[in-house]
Amino acid sequence: MAGTENQWRSMRLLRDVEDSLYPLLMEQSVARSLAAGEVLLSPEQPNRHIYFVVSGQLCVRLHNLVEKPIAAITPGQCSGEVSILDERPPSAWVSASFATELLVLNRDQLWALVERSHALSRNLLYIMSRRIRNYRQLVTQQTDEANTDALTGLHNRRWLDGQLPRAMAVVQQSKKSLALLMIDADHFKQFNDQYGHAAGDQALSRLANVLQESLRTEDSVVRYGGEEFTVLLPNSDEPLALAIAERIRAAVAATALLIDGVEKGRRITVSVGAAVATTEGPLGHDELLRRADKALYQAKSVGRNRVERFTDALG
Ligand code: GH3
Ligand code: MG
Ligand code: MG
Repeated sequence: MAGTENQWRSMRLLRDVEDSLYPLLMEQSVARSLAAGEVLLSPEQPNRHIYFVVSGQLCVRLHNLVEKPIAAITPGQCSGEVSILDERPPSAWVSASFATELLVLNRDQLWALVERSHALSRNLLYIMSRRIRNYRQLVTQQTDEANTDALTGLHNRRWLDGQLPRAMAVVQQSKKSLALLMIDADHFKQFNDQYGHAAGDQALSRLANVLQESLRTEDSVVRYGGEEFTVLLPNSDEPLALAIAERIRAAVAATALLIDGVEKGRRITVSVGAAVATTEGPLGHDELLRRADKALYQAKSVGRNRVERFTDALG
């Protein structure tokens, strides 16, 4: 026997349920106290109970007990209901953030309540749909983070690896060509040597902004790695791609670099290699990257701060 009627009334699962349920809940439940850090649920232990938080807090982690929690379960909320419903071990680790008081019902008791009360069943559906929505949000957020470069906020190479094959498939379907630019900062090692790595980071960040500002909304900029960037230009033939590449090159060369708010005498330039995929003579995405890289290498060897296009002569 545990919990006062007021404690039970504060639980989300019991919103608007019949008054006749409360004596039953108090009679059937047991109380449980957790010390800070104590583990309540884990994927390694089957669960047969639903836990209601009266005071304190539970935290939820997906993979282990030390990573950053993905959610907190606060007074009025419950935990453990998913593994009761699907009869599988918990999918997460749940432990007490600090000293926590719980009320506990077992699986059969919860099912008996579901049978008895429409209001409780409706609340359980509400709680489950909140769980699904939160989980989906988390997955979206984690996918976004995994595809984003932390320094510049641009897409990263992982994103490109996923996106480029799709963009190439669109070329075949839509009969519109796709251009790819490989862009590399010139003599960037010297920039780092002169101003330091932190200033180099700021310069790369600024460079990323200039690239984005020079493009159309349908274009994508990727930090390919280090001081190298890739630009995808959908629906672009070679003359258009070369015009955009030249616009980028000129914009970068014209940009004064502020490092810690102070303008540096030295400017950054970029070399750009361009390659185009058309419906005639389809290429693999690796080949498109290789061609743009060849053209970039050519731009470096003929003097840097310039744009070159792939030609068969480059191999
Ligand atoms: P090149 O014109 O031939 O491209 O010369 P480079 O000096 O730019 O080329 P290299 O590949 O020799 O050196 C690249 C430099 O870019 C060296 C590396 O320290 C710097 N770099 C790469 N990633 C970062 C970064 O995230 N931050 C900073 N600050 N520097 C970076
Ligand atoms: Mg470089
Ligand atoms: Mg490089």
